[in-house]
Amino acid sequence: MELTTFLEIAPESDFSIHNLPYGVFKPRIGGAPRVGVAIGADALDLSVLHEAGFFNQTVFASHNVFNNSSLNAFIRLGRDAWRETRTIVQKLLSDDVADLRDNAILRDAALIPQSRIEMLLPVEIGDYTDFYSSYHHAHNVGTMLRGAENALMPNWKHLPVAYHGRASSVVVSGTNFSRPRGQIQPSDANEPIFSPTRSLDFELEMGFFIGAENALGEPIPIERADEFMFGMVLVNDWSARDIQAWEYQPLGPFLAKNFCTSISPWVVTFDALEPFKKPLPAQDPKPLAYLARENDWAYDIELEVSLQSATMDAPHVITRSNFQNLYWSMNQQLAHHTVNGCNVRVGDLLASGTISGAEKFSRGSMLELTWRGKEPLQLPNGETRRFLDDGDVVTMRAWGAKDGVRVGFGEVRGKALSAQSLS
Ligand code: MN
Repeated sequence: MELTTFLEIAPESDFSIHNLPYGVFKPRIGGAPRVGVAIGADALDLSVLHEAGFFNQTVFASHNVFNNSSLNAFIRLGRDAWRETRTIVQKLLSDDVADLRDNAILRDAALIPQSRIEMLLPVEIGDYTDFYSSYHHAHNVGTMLRGAENALMPNWKHLPVAYHGRASSVVVSGTNFSRPRGQIQPSDANEPIFSPTRSLDFELEMGFFIGAENALGEPIPIERADEFMFGMVLVNDWSARDIQAWEYQPLGPFLAKNFCTSISPWVVTFDALEPFKKPLPAQDPKPLAYLARENDWAYDIELEVSLQSATMDAPHVITRSNFQNLYWSMNQQLAHHTVNGCNVRVGDLLASGTISGAEKFSRGSMLELTWRGKEPLQLPNGETRRFLDDGDVVTMRAWGAKDGVRVGFGEVRGKALSAQSLS
């Protein structure tokens, strides 16, 4: 049966009745943060629906988990509760159910135009891990650093490489940041200098939130990995390439990455992404048994990055990629993350790494698009870019679309401001 809603939703909206992503918001006119679901151009306030008794048949009937400044308490309830909530909300929004459709007072209280709310960081993130799972990204970066013959490190096709990132500087879309300063080693100097980064970059990534915990010492088997995942967001892992080049050996990225990481505000569930599942392409060599899952999968999610400089009057698309450009699956990432007994906790964020495709126009960072600045990007107003300038706004979008069903992530947007002066 076709699922339709009584609300008018533009066909190009990311937030169809098939999506129903969760977020945390507060009304611009004031009021406490609460949990909502995006539907068309509106947000549906779940705390109001809970108060109105629509969750009375659930295990959380007596506790309004939606009266909260993060999704963590809701996520902790577990997958059955997420699914129950999705079913209840989908029913309430559907054409043939009267409860919300015919109740003007309830609609007024529960449905708020997204233009009248401020989105907050949806999840309290305890730990953030960033993978390096796109073959083309790893190959491009490796080629620039070591030449095409030695582009991939010997471990790359055997394990999903990652580093532990910083959770404290993960921010919600719309948060601007100052160009970071740090140590850089210019190629024409003998000594490092202290300077604002000269090669500010974005990284086109997606990430998933942990939805259930393993005990310390107990690896998550790959066959069950998906049961530990709540949902996905877009991630822009802002990077300072010159700081990175000088600092990264031997322990990996540090200050080049931890000054800001932006995520989209609406968390899209795996139930909503089900129609976009695709088989994970065969891997060669075959991974070790703990990384092998029969019928492992990816998702057909389109990705797009646009750039708008301070003098441009519209954003300009500079790259298009797809989530299927990842070599390693999310199941493999999580199985690998915990195989040594490392425990993950509800709200942890695991990001994919830059998602680059095979074509030049599908590269997921400025570093790759301009080949470390050698081939500057031409913008439609005549400006060129090697890396990002102050005032540049980077916006990423992601969506699945199939048979008239669209499930999108909205956007993650951020602006680089000039470096703060040091007092
Ligand atoms: Mn990254």
